[in-house]
Formats: sequence, structure tokens, C-alpha cells
Amino acid sequence: REFGEVSLKDIDNVAKSSFPLCMRHLFDKLREDHHLKHWGRMQLGLFLKGVGLKLDDALAFWKAEFSQKVGAERFDKEYAYSIRHNYGKEGKRVDYTPYSCQKIISLTPSVGDHHGCPYRHFSEENIRAALCKMGVNSGGVEDVMDKVRHKHYQLACTLTFEAIHGCPNDAGINHPNQYFSDSQKILKS
Ligand code: SF4
Repeated sequence: REFGEVSLKDIDNVAKSSFPLCMRHLFDKLREDHHLKHWGRMQLGLFLKGVGLKLDDALAFWKAEFSQKVGAERFDKEYAYSIRHNYGKEGKRVDYTPYSCQKIISLTPSVGDHHGCPYRHFSEENIRAALCKMGVNSGGVEDVMDKVRHKHYQLACTLTFEAIHGCPNDAGINHPNQYFSDSQKILKS
């Protein structure tokens, strides 16, 4: 992998600096609720695999949160399998690929779900609040909202990236893991 591994101790820092909004939201909700529903676990779990979180660290990461909600035993029984499965260690042993923006944008989250693309699935008010939290200034927020209103969600994400990192992203965002690696390239250069 281009940037090697992301270890458990770094994960909160890289989440803040280099996760796109869809993954920031899932990550924060998991930390807050100690739980995510199926599609949220899939969307975030496969992304984390893509950024280089190893299976053992992934199991420790999910277990630390889920144990607080459902207990360690239930985690081992009901949830650990699907994490190993995402890493191709169970079932058909397929090494599953992280979701692209196109796929995430096409998902249809219900109430209580946190997966999907916030630029498409959040209310305008919630997008504005999230952008402020990410450090986008008010002019930047208006530019992003303009793209959202025209349903150009990936362009909205690209403008967010540019506002946060202070430099252009000419290719444009089309995959959460690309957002992550483009961000790390800038921050580590
Ligand atoms: Fe995530 Fe892609 Fe939406 Fe950005 S445009 S928030 S990377 S799904």
C-alpha cells in the first residue's frame, strides 16, 4: 500500500485530517454510539481496510466500541465474523473492495443509518454544520452548498478537500480511499 499501514494509535488523528466527510461521519458515530448498522459497518470497514488497517487492528478497533454496547461476547459471536469476512478470511474468501463514491451516493440510508454520502443524504443544515466542524470557512461552505444544490456531490466533496488542504485537487474526488491518499500525500510532503 502506498502509505503503508495505519495503526490503531494513529486512527483518530488520520480520521480528523484525511477522512472524507462520509467516513468522518461514520467514524464519529461509531465512537459516539459504540454501534453502527450493517451498511455503515460495511462502508467504514472496507474503507479502513483500504487505508491499511490490518485485520487484527480492525478487530480490536470494532471490538473496543461494540463491547461497550453489546458486550465482548456478543461481539465475538455476531460481529467478528463479518469483519474477518470483509478481509477475505471467511466464507468465499473474496477480498472485498472498498466502495466508490458512485456506489455510496446510490445507497439509500433509512432513519438510524449513518452510511451513504452526506452531500446527498444530509439536510442542508447538517452539511453546513459538518463543514464548519471540518474547518471550511464560510465562503467555502457557500461554494460547496452550490454544488450540493446542483446535485454535484463529488464536486462538493472536491471543493471541501481543496478548502481544507489549501490546494487544488485537479483529478476530483471519485473514491473515499482516493480522498484519503491524496490528503496523506499533501500532509506528508
Ligand atoms: Fe464520501 Fe465520495 Fe461522498 Fe466524498 S463524494 S463524502 S468521498 S461518498
